[in-house]
Amino acid sequence: MEETPISGRSVVITGGAGFIGSHIAEALAADNDVRILDDLSGGSREHVPAGAELITGDVRDPELLADAMDGADLVFHEAALVSVEESVANPRTSHRINADATVGLLEQAREEDARVVLASSAAIYGHPETVPVREGDPKDPTSPYGIDKLALDHYARRYHDLYGLETVPLRYFNVYGPRQNTEYSAVVSAFFRQAREGGPITVEGDGEQTRDFVHVSDVVRANLLAATTDRVGEAFNVGTGASVTVNELAETVVDVTGTDADIEHVEARPGDIRHSEASVSKAREVLGYEPRVSLEEGLRKLAETKGRR
Ligand code: NAD
Repeated sequence: MEETPISGRSVVITGGAGFIGSHIAEALAADNDVRILDDLSGGSREHVPAGAELITGDVRDPELLADAMDGADLVFHEAALVSVEESVANPRTSHRINADATVGLLEQAREEDARVVLASSAAIYGHPETVPVREGDPKDPTSPYGIDKLALDHYARRYHDLYGLETVPLRYFNVYGPRQNTEYSAVVSAFFRQAREGGPITVEGDGEQTRDFVHVSDVVRANLLAATTDRVGEAFNVGTGASVTVNELAETVVDVTGTDADIEHVEARPGDIRHSEASVSKAREVLGYEPRVSLEEGLRKLAETKGRR
C-alpha cells in the first residue's frame, strides 16, 4: 500500500464495506481511526480491512448517523442505491438513500465540522453533447439515480457556500477493479464473470458505445487528494481522460483471461449513453490527480487476482 498524507484522523466511510469504499478504507485503516457505516445490502463484512470498525446500519437513520459520525473530522460518503435499473423501478427509494440521506449526512457533518468527500457520478451529465465532458457542461440525467446524484452534487457544493462546510463531490466515471459487485450494470465485472463461466460475453447493442474506465486505485487517490485540497466546494471529474468502445473492452477481457468464450451482441439497453469520457484537466490542475493504471494493465491485474481465487 502506498503512503498517504493522512494520519491520526477520525474517518467515517459510508458504504465502506462496498467496492470503492473498502478500497478507501484499506488505504486509511493503518494510520487513522476508521469507522464504516454500511447496511451490507451490497457490501460484505469480508471487505472491511483489519483495524477498521464496522457499524452495520442504514445511512437513512439519523441517530445511527449521529453515532457513527461522532467526533469525525473526515467523511467519505460512498453508500448509495447504486443500480440505475433499481432506481427506475423504485425512484422513491433511490431518492431517500441517494439524495435525502445525503442531506442528513451533510447536516451531521456541520455538527462535527467534518470535511466530506462524496461519490457523485458521470450519470449527472446524461447524454453528453460533446466529449470529453467538462465539469461545467450541461447536466441532464436520464434516471432517478442520476437525478439524485445531481442533487447530492449540488447540495454538497451549496453546503460549502451557505454554511462553510468543506465538501468535495467527485464525479466518478466507470470504476473497475477487485471486489466490484457483478450484480448490477458494471460491465467490466460482468465480462469477467462471463469469461470465467465460459461465455458468451454479451455486448449490448453494436458495442461501439464508449466508456472511460478508471481503476479503483486511481479513484482512491482522487479521494485522498480531495480530502486534503484547499479547493473545497467544487466538483471534480474522476476518470482517465480516455475512452474505449465496449467491443474493445470485450476483446481485451478475452485476451487477458485467455477464455474461449465467444463475444455475442444482445439487444441495446434503452436510453444507453453513446459516448462517455471525462475531462480530467481540472482534477489534474487543481488536485494534482494523475490516473496511473492503464485499462490493459488494470484488466491484466484483475485477471491475475481472479485467477488466484
Ligand atoms: P457498492 O455497491 O460496492 O458500494 C455501495 C455500498 O453502500 C455497499 O457496501 C452497500 O451495502 C452500501 N449501502 C447501500 N445502501 C446503503 C444504506 N442505505 N445505508 C448504508 N449502506 C448502504 O458500489 P460502489 O461501486 O463501490 O459505489 C460506491 C459509490 O460510488 C456509490 O455512491 C456509487 O453511486 C458511486 N459511483 C460508482 C461508480 C462505479 O463505477 N462503481 C460510478 C459512479 C459513481
